[in-house]
Amino acid sequence: MGLLAEGTALDWPDAKKYAAQVREWGIQQLLEIWNKAKVKERDAMLWGDEIEYLVVVYSKDDPKVLLSLRQADILKALANDEELVAQGGGVPDLQDATPPRQENPLPVFHPEFGRFMLEATPGKPWGIEFKALLAVEPDMKLRRRIAKNHMLPKEHPITLTTFPTLGSPGVFTDPFYPVSGSKLRSQFVPDEIANPHIRFPTLAANIRSRRGRKVQVNVPVFRDVKTPWPWKDPTVNYDLHNWPEDDDVRNGAAPDNFIHMDAMAFGMGSCCLQITFQAKNITEGRRMYDQLSPLGPILLALTAATPIYKGFLADTDVRWNQISRAVDDRTPGEMGEKPLENDRWRIPKSRYASNSTYISTDSRLRPEYLDPDLIIDPDIKAKLLEGGMDDRLATHFAHLFIRDPIVIFSEDLKELDLNKTDHFENIQSTNWQHMRFKPPPADNSIGWRVEFRPMEIQVTDFENAAFSVFLVLMTRAILSFDLNFYIPIVKVDENMETAHARDAVLERKFHFRKNPFHARPPRSSAASGTNSPNGMPSRPPTPTGPVEDEYRLMSINEIINGTSYARSFSSSGNATGAGGDQDEEDATSFNSFMDEDEFPGLIPLVEGYLDSVNLDVVTRCELSTYLDLIRKRASGELWTAARWIRHFVDRHPGYGHDSAVTDEVARDLVGAVVAIGEREQDDRGFGGLDVPDLDRLLGGFRGA
Ligand code: ADP
Ligand code: MG
Ligand code: MG
Ligand code: MG
Ligand code: MG
Ligand code: MG
Repeated sequence: MGLLAEGTALDWPDAKKYAAQVREWGIQQLLEIWNKAKVKERDAMLWGDEIEYLVVVYSKDDPKVLLSLRQADILKALANDEELVAQGGGVPDLQDATPPRQENPLPVFHPEFGRFMLEATPGKPWGIEFKALLAVEPDMKLRRRIAKNHMLPKEHPITLTTFPTLGSPGVFTDPFYPVSGSKLRSQFVPDEIANPHIRFPTLAANIRSRRGRKVQVNVPVFRDVKTPWPWKDPTVNYDLHNWPEDDDVRNGAAPDNFIHMDAMAFGMGSCCLQITFQAKNITEGRRMYDQLSPLGPILLALTAATPIYKGFLADTDVRWNQISRAVDDRTPGEMGEKPLENDRWRIPKSRYASNSTYISTDSRLRPEYLDPDLIIDPDIKAKLLEGGMDDRLATHFAHLFIRDPIVIFSEDLKELDLNKTDHFENIQSTNWQHMRFKPPPADNSIGWRVEFRPMEIQVTDFENAAFSVFLVLMTRAILSFDLNFYIPIVKVDENMETAHARDAVLERKFHFRKNPFHARPPRSSAASGTNSPNGMPSRPPTPTGPVEDEYRLMSINEIINGTSYARSFSSSGNATGAGGDQDEEDATSFNSFMDEDEFPGLIPLVEGYLDSVNLDVVTRCELSTYLDLIRKRASGELWTAARWIRHFVDRHPGYGHDSAVTDEVARDLVGAVVAIGEREQDDRGFGGLDVPDLDRLLGGFRGA
């Protein structure tokens, strides 16, 4: 999204009047690009990651750590760095000139919702070659270094998901602004917390107006030994009378035992790690979308990094639901709290939520996996069908298009331009599901892409690279072995909730498909062209019995590393073979293994894929370092950042065991994270770094 002059943004009651028009034009633009791009073939297998940073003002001698609100200045400095731009890097959204084409361009930077945030991506997407998997970590480190070089000495880019004292009383930004502005009407954060570009405050204000009250981001507080109970959020002010919305807390918006937050910044101000894949064609893209979908909650729990909000320990470990609530624009009628008046449907989920449907043409997609209660706009669907789109994809878009456009620029309403996708993107890009199916842009210059969005940002680039590499390899294994991870989509929703629990990675179980090898039914058998994993003589057909028999609850350790049987099987060297030369006995044992409630494990499947390609020993070894992190995170040998942060707080002498994360504790926590980031820059790793329990987070990786 370009941020150069966009025009006049309409306030909510006005924007609402044009919602139907934007949807109508958006659908026409979608059909235009769909008709152009549905036959696209042989696009390159590309992928790219996105890293989001908080910019903090930290010095160990200052009593407080603050959020820097200098995003615009930092981006300007990056955009004006001639050397950076000459080498293909910079800030595409702010530069008029397209940077020169480069073989290996420097990274690019992007604005984000929070005025204290920064986003960085590689200068161009990564290719299919394995060396790209080894280039990503150095590139991430380079991004951090370049970002730092365009900041003030006391400013640091850090990769914590949330700032521990965002919205706590007093000063938490640099510069300071008073709270209770006209856009957010928040009693905890000033309007200046958001990127000042008109798109962002309008987004926040129009979500609030559409809802008819402020967003309510309530997260359960962690009950420690000295936490008063019931707990009342001591930072809530019940006596404000600046805005009508100040009544929200008097009307029960801040229940006992919850940390109460009231603005978009508490959600959209969180940092995540996203990966986008380009598929060779639309069919493959739709398949990737579906098969990666059930992995979303698993990766969310594995990357858990968000145990603190507004200066308190939360009882959840991840950011997801808080973002969901922070942009939930549903009216009381849509939420089912009041009778429907002006709105069309009860809508069970926020526009930021887990995926609601599957989209693949895969014949293994049983109708039972779909949500029978999915809300769609039937008129939109009819138009898409009329335009030639198939039922399943039309259903997906007709679901996204139940939403209103939130930010509308009056200039864009003059005439419909079918050489653009702005109206389509208006709805598409404000449907924040855990996967996003991205059609090519209007000029059809790139292919169909699928974005994986649930992962939390990790403290180190080593971890961020590890999760990126794992997901890329997982995708390759899915395509190469034609893996089948289908479970009913509502079970994916349930898993998403489960992933929020404290230490869900070790303590909870997730619905997961038992047998990932089920073949397509014979008629459309696409088994040719895909490797048969593990030397199986033939793949069992997709069952036709009750779908409940196809999945069961598993721990993340089982899902990632395989059930114990699978582990011993794979350690004997058989389970991860590339296939072809196993003897009868292996195949038999594999079949019997699949009859049990056993699961091979995602890492063994990835290893199986690596075995099947010709990989030099050095590359394989490097990749193993990354896979080991995932493996050990799942087994509990290593900690999630959430656990590490909790432990850091708990053992800090300034912590009173009352759930409150004081300025002093927050400063030292951020200080530790800054130190880790700086230390990671030099290739000596973490050895000797005096950060408590670093080894529990990162183990012996990279020289600790
Ligand atoms: P978003 O809308 O999610 O911010 P962007 O288009 O800015 O998405 O890019 C997100 C990621 O996708 C970046 O890492 C970028 O390198 C990568 N990317 C861009 N083009 C492609 C492509 N054709 N195929 C795969 N990844 C791509
Ligand atoms: Mg973007
Ligand atoms: Mg981006
Ligand atoms: Mg972003
Ligand atoms: Mg993205
Ligand atoms: Mg203690």
